[in-house]
Amino acid sequence: MDGIRNRLLDLNQKTILKPDAVPSVNLPLQDNREDVSSRSERKRKRIILQETKISLKCLRLKKHSLSLDRLPSCCKAKRGLFWDKRCHLEPNQISLEDGEANIVRKDIINIFTDGSKTEHGVGAAFCVLTNDTWAYQWCAKLKDNNTVFQTELTALHEAVIYASHLPSHNASKIHVDNRASIMASSNLKSTNETARKIFKILLTNPRISVSWFKAHAGNIGNQRADQMAKDATQHGQPYSLIKLPKPHIKGLLRKSMLEERQTSRKNVNTGRKIYNIMSSVSLRPTNWIREDVIFFSQQGPFPAYLKRFHLSDSDFCSCGGIGTALHHATECIYTVSWHMRKPAPNFEQEWLKRVANNLVSRHKIRGIIKFMSENRYLFRPP
Ligand SMILES: [Zn+2]
Repeated sequence: MDGIRNRLLDLNQKTILKPDAVPSVNLPLQDNREDVSSRSERKRKRIILQETKISLKCLRLKKHSLSLDRLPSCCKAKRGLFWDKRCHLEPNQISLEDGEANIVRKDIINIFTDGSKTEHGVGAAFCVLTNDTWAYQWCAKLKDNNTVFQTELTALHEAVIYASHLPSHNASKIHVDNRASIMASSNLKSTNETARKIFKILLTNPRISVSWFKAHAGNIGNQRADQMAKDATQHGQPYSLIKLPKPHIKGLLRKSMLEERQTSRKNVNTGRKIYNIMSSVSLRPTNWIREDVIFFSQQGPFPAYLKRFHLSDSDFCSCGGIGTALHHATECIYTVSWHMRKPAPNFEQEWLKRVANNLVSRHKIRGIIKFMSENRYLFRPP
């Protein structure tokens, strides 16, 4: 490690100490002699760059291989400058080809896995076929919120654990009808914890192989595992080792967050004007801009508002009416360009709700607020 670092530092110094190290594309070619010298210079730089790249790559791989320390070291091979640990499965240990043809083999232990999700619940199962006899079976009922993918992976995980405890001379083949779980289990860096566990067990047990086969094709093992998984959805032993799926947890958190916000919004006394227009809390943006907020909260350049907060002596508009937001939107002579129809006295709240949901009306409101902000002197009481 130190050797590589020193070498890298050395390379860095070399490149830094070279003041004429400019990009080769900018070098003007004046005559043939210069052409040759710049070419050799370019070649030298390219070699330095390549060496640096290789060294960096080695360092990166070394770091990666250190993080695999927890993995069993089945083979240690010296590759170039660093020691690598085996992090790949044996060839043919995992197969996505239809493995039905191998099922007739009697010299190996055949294990069939399946997962099921019905209206009754979620179940996982596997059964073991040895010399035409059912040697063992396992099934469990998962939580109702677990996904089909999780059940398939759980069945495979349990099957792999079972196979890893068999006497070492027994080769076993696990038949899975779910491609996704096989793909996940063959990936060391899978985001799924169960898939990574399966990978590690397979890595230490090369005599266990996993193979895909087509479901519902009349295979006796698949039928049995399928039936067991379906039964387990109702009568299986509870299995709680699997975490709930992330989207489900996110959904729960979102729901409780919204409920909490809704309750607090309902119970406070402030912000009632907006609450009366929009009472339910939602994650969907309303797309209100500053002018909308000013109008619907009625906290802006309205004489009535200024009077309420002792910023003015009178709540009258210069036109003679009481300067409320509604007055400017429907009656005031200075804002005729953006007027809307005045609601009946008891329907003001409904009117505000309708205006808030109508883009054309909101456009008018924005015009009014903008005009009032720019021409405040017009609205001052006489
Ligand atoms: Zn007015």
